[in-house]
Amino acid sequence: MARYIGSVCRMCRREGVKLFLKSDRCNSFKCAMEKRAFAPGQHGISKRFKLSEYGVQLREKQKAKRFYGILENQFRRYFNNAERLPGRTGENLLILIERRLDNVLLKSGFFRSRQMARQIINHGHVLVNNKKVDIHSYLVKIDDVIKIKDSIKNTPVIKSLQEETNSQNLSIPSWIVSDIKKLESKIVRMPTREDITFQVNEQLIVELYSK
Ligand code: SF4
Repeated sequence: MARYIGSVCRMCRREGVKLFLKSDRCNSFKCAMEKRAFAPGQHGISKRFKLSEYGVQLREKQKAKRFYGILENQFRRYFNNAERLPGRTGENLLILIERRLDNVLLKSGFFRSRQMARQIINHGHVLVNNKKVDIHSYLVKIDDVIKIKDSIKNTPVIKSLQEETNSQNLSIPSWIVSDIKKLESKIVRMPTREDITFQVNEQLIVELYSK
Protein backbone atom coordinates (compact mmCIF):
# COMPACT_ATOMS: atom_id res chain seq x y z
CA MET A 1 0.00 0.00 0.00
CA ALA A 2 1.43 3.34 -1.05
CA ARG A 3 1.97 5.93 1.62
CA TYR A 4 3.62 9.31 2.00
CA ILE A 5 6.97 9.03 3.79
CA GLY A 6 8.25 12.60 3.53
CA SER A 7 8.08 15.34 6.16
CA VAL A 8 4.48 16.01 7.15
CA CYS A 9 5.31 19.54 8.29
CA ARG A 10 6.25 20.34 4.68
CA MET A 11 2.61 19.66 3.77
CA CYS A 12 1.37 22.30 6.21
CA ARG A 13 3.94 24.76 4.92
CA ARG A 14 2.97 23.98 1.33
CA GLU A 15 -0.73 24.56 2.03
CA GLY A 16 -0.08 27.53 4.28
CA VAL A 17 -2.27 26.18 7.10
CA LYS A 18 -1.83 23.96 10.12
CA LEU A 19 -3.08 20.50 9.21
CA PHE A 20 -2.42 19.07 12.71
CA LEU A 21 -0.61 15.95 11.54
CA LYS A 22 1.77 15.56 14.49
CA SER A 23 -0.36 15.50 17.66
CA ASP A 24 1.20 17.49 20.55
CA ARG A 25 3.87 19.16 18.48
CA CYS A 26 1.21 20.94 16.42
CA ASN A 27 0.08 22.93 19.45
CA SER A 28 3.56 23.77 20.63
CA PHE A 29 6.17 26.35 19.71
CA LYS A 30 8.00 23.56 17.87
CA CYS A 31 5.39 23.59 15.12
CA ALA A 32 7.09 24.38 11.81
CA MET A 33 4.28 26.80 10.92
CA GLU A 34 5.20 28.94 13.92
CA LYS A 35 8.77 29.29 12.71
CA ARG A 36 8.63 28.95 8.93
CA ALA A 37 5.16 29.79 7.70
CA PHE A 38 6.17 29.89 4.06
CA ALA A 39 6.24 27.27 1.32
CA PRO A 40 9.12 24.77 1.46
CA GLY A 41 11.89 24.75 -1.10
CA GLN A 42 14.59 27.13 -2.26
CA HIS A 43 12.18 29.78 -3.46
CA GLY A 44 9.39 29.22 -0.95
CA ILE A 45 9.91 32.50 0.87
CA SER A 46 10.25 34.58 -2.29
CA LYS A 47 7.33 33.13 -4.24
CA ARG A 48 4.62 35.72 -3.93
CA PHE A 49 2.49 35.22 -7.00
CA LYS A 50 -1.23 35.11 -7.50
CA LEU A 51 -2.61 31.62 -8.03
CA SER A 52 -4.68 30.89 -11.11
CA GLU A 53 -8.24 29.60 -10.69
CA TYR A 54 -6.94 26.10 -11.32
CA GLY A 55 -4.16 26.65 -8.77
CA VAL A 56 -6.66 27.68 -6.08
CA GLN A 57 -8.81 24.61 -6.76
CA LEU A 58 -5.78 22.32 -6.77
CA ARG A 59 -4.48 23.67 -3.46
CA GLU A 60 -7.89 23.17 -1.83
CA LYS A 61 -7.99 19.56 -2.97
CA GLN A 62 -4.42 18.95 -1.82
CA LYS A 63 -5.20 20.51 1.56
CA ALA A 64 -8.17 18.16 2.12
CA LYS A 65 -6.21 15.10 0.96
CA ARG A 66 -3.30 15.91 3.21
CA PHE A 67 -5.44 16.72 6.22
CA TYR A 68 -7.12 13.31 6.04
CA GLY A 69 -3.94 11.51 4.92
CA ILE A 70 -5.44 10.16 1.69
CA LEU A 71 -3.59 9.62 -1.57
CA GLU A 72 -4.87 10.80 -4.94
CA ASN A 73 -6.41 7.58 -6.29
CA GLN A 74 -8.39 6.92 -3.15
CA PHE A 75 -9.48 10.53 -2.87
CA ARG A 76 -10.73 10.37 -6.45
CA ARG A 77 -12.66 7.19 -5.64
CA TYR A 78 -14.35 8.99 -2.75
CA PHE A 79 -15.26 11.77 -5.14
CA ASN A 80 -16.73 9.30 -7.67
CA ASN A 81 -18.78 7.67 -4.91
CA ALA A 82 -19.90 11.08 -3.62
CA GLU A 83 -21.15 11.99 -7.10
CA ARG A 84 -23.42 8.94 -7.15
CA LEU A 85 -25.06 9.84 -3.83
CA PRO A 86 -28.09 12.16 -3.64
CA GLY A 87 -27.38 15.71 -2.51
CA ARG A 88 -24.37 17.96 -2.95
CA THR A 89 -21.26 16.17 -4.18
CA GLY A 90 -18.83 18.29 -2.14
CA GLU A 91 -20.68 17.69 1.11
CA ASN A 92 -21.07 13.98 0.33
CA LEU A 93 -17.33 13.78 -0.27
CA LEU A 94 -16.43 15.28 3.10
CA ILE A 95 -19.04 13.22 4.93
CA LEU A 96 -17.77 9.99 3.35
CA ILE A 97 -14.21 10.77 4.42
CA GLU A 98 -15.34 11.79 7.89
CA ARG A 99 -16.82 8.32 8.35
CA ARG A 100 -13.44 6.60 7.98
CA LEU A 101 -12.49 4.48 10.96
CA ASP A 102 -9.16 6.27 11.55
CA ASN A 103 -11.00 9.60 11.66
CA VAL A 104 -13.62 8.20 14.06
CA LEU A 105 -10.95 7.00 16.50
CA LEU A 106 -9.31 10.41 16.37
CA LYS A 107 -12.61 12.25 16.84
CA SER A 108 -13.56 9.89 19.69
CA GLY A 109 -10.56 11.26 21.56
CA PHE A 110 -8.74 7.94 21.83
CA PHE A 111 -5.61 9.04 19.99
CA ARG A 112 -3.82 12.29 19.40
CA SER A 113 -3.05 11.83 15.74
CA ARG A 114 -4.59 10.14 12.74
CA GLN A 115 -1.33 8.30 12.18
CA MET A 116 -1.45 6.78 15.66
CA ALA A 117 -5.08 5.71 15.18
CA ARG A 118 -4.18 4.18 11.84
CA GLN A 119 -1.35 2.16 13.31
CA ILE A 120 -3.58 0.69 16.03
CA ILE A 121 -6.18 -0.27 13.40
CA ASN A 122 -3.64 -1.78 11.00
CA HIS A 123 -2.21 -3.90 13.80
CA GLY A 124 -5.64 -5.41 14.37
CA HIS A 125 -6.40 -3.88 17.77
CA VAL A 126 -9.80 -2.39 16.86
CA LEU A 127 -13.18 -4.07 16.99
CA VAL A 128 -16.27 -2.82 15.19
CA ASN A 129 -19.42 -4.50 16.50
CA ASN A 130 -17.13 -7.04 18.20
CA LYS A 131 -15.40 -8.02 14.96
CA LYS A 132 -11.80 -7.17 14.17
CA VAL A 133 -11.44 -4.47 11.51
CA ASP A 134 -7.90 -3.78 10.34
CA ILE A 135 -8.76 -1.48 7.43
CA HIS A 136 -8.37 2.14 8.45
CA SER A 137 -10.55 3.36 5.58
CA TYR A 138 -13.53 1.28 6.80
CA LEU A 139 -16.63 3.51 6.72
CA VAL A 140 -18.63 3.46 9.93
CA LYS A 141 -22.43 3.29 9.95
CA ILE A 142 -25.14 4.30 12.40
CA ASP A 143 -25.13 2.09 15.54
CA ASP A 144 -21.61 0.78 14.93
CA VAL A 145 -19.81 0.23 18.23
CA ILE A 146 -16.07 0.75 18.04
CA LYS A 147 -13.78 -0.64 20.73
CA ILE A 148 -10.08 -0.96 21.35
CA LYS A 149 -9.18 -4.55 22.18
CA ASP A 150 -8.79 -5.32 25.89
CA SER A 151 -5.41 -6.92 25.19
CA ILE A 152 -3.77 -3.54 24.58
CA LYS A 153 -5.75 -1.37 26.98
CA ASN A 154 -3.23 -1.86 29.77
CA THR A 155 -0.13 -1.21 27.72
CA PRO A 156 1.91 1.82 28.91
CA VAL A 157 1.35 3.62 25.59
CA ILE A 158 -2.43 3.39 25.75
CA LYS A 159 -2.50 4.17 29.50
CA SER A 160 -0.45 7.32 29.07
CA LEU A 161 -2.59 8.36 26.11
CA GLN A 162 -5.72 7.93 28.20
CA GLU A 163 -4.28 9.95 31.06
CA GLU A 164 -3.31 12.77 28.76
CA THR A 165 -6.65 12.68 26.97
CA ASN A 166 -8.56 12.76 30.27
CA SER A 167 -6.74 15.89 31.29
CA GLN A 168 -7.58 17.68 28.06
CA ASN A 169 -10.79 19.43 27.13
CA LEU A 170 -11.88 17.43 24.13
CA SER A 171 -14.72 18.45 21.90
CA ILE A 172 -16.19 15.21 20.60
CA PRO A 173 -18.67 15.72 17.75
CA SER A 174 -22.28 14.93 18.59
CA TRP A 175 -22.56 12.11 16.02
CA ILE A 176 -20.22 10.05 18.18
CA VAL A 177 -20.84 9.02 21.79
CA SER A 178 -17.46 8.25 23.25
CA ASP A 179 -16.34 6.67 26.52
CA ILE A 180 -12.64 7.42 26.75
CA LYS A 181 -12.15 5.41 29.94
CA LYS A 182 -13.47 2.27 28.27
CA LEU A 183 -12.01 3.23 24.86
CA GLU A 184 -15.39 2.59 23.32
CA SER A 185 -17.54 4.73 21.07
CA LYS A 186 -20.84 4.48 19.24
CA ILE A 187 -22.04 6.15 16.06
CA VAL A 188 -25.41 7.66 16.91
CA ARG A 189 -26.04 9.42 13.60
CA MET A 190 -24.33 10.18 10.33
CA PRO A 191 -22.11 13.27 10.35
CA THR A 192 -23.36 16.35 8.53
CA ARG A 193 -21.41 19.17 6.88
CA GLU A 194 -21.91 21.28 10.00
CA ASP A 195 -20.05 18.67 12.06
CA ILE A 196 -16.91 19.08 9.97
CA THR A 197 -14.81 21.82 11.52
CA PHE A 198 -11.87 21.52 9.12
CA GLN A 199 -11.76 24.72 7.05
CA VAL A 200 -12.14 23.62 3.45
CA ASN A 201 -14.11 24.87 0.47
CA GLU A 202 -15.36 21.59 -0.98
CA GLN A 203 -16.96 23.38 -3.93
CA LEU A 204 -13.49 24.16 -5.28
CA ILE A 205 -12.68 20.44 -5.21
CA VAL A 206 -15.87 19.66 -7.11
CA GLU A 207 -14.99 22.30 -9.70
CA LEU A 208 -11.50 20.87 -10.11
CA TYR A 209 -12.66 17.30 -10.63
CA SER A 210 -15.49 18.40 -12.92
CA LYS A 211 -13.18 20.01 -15.48
FE1 SF4 B 1 1.72 20.93 10.69
FE2 SF4 B 1 2.84 22.24 12.75
FE3 SF4 B 1 1.77 19.86 13.11
FE4 SF4 B 1 4.03 20.09 11.69
S1 SF4 B 1 3.77 20.53 13.84
S2 SF4 B 1 2.24 18.84 11.19
S3 SF4 B 1 3.65 22.10 10.69
S4 SF4 B 1 0.65 21.73 12.47
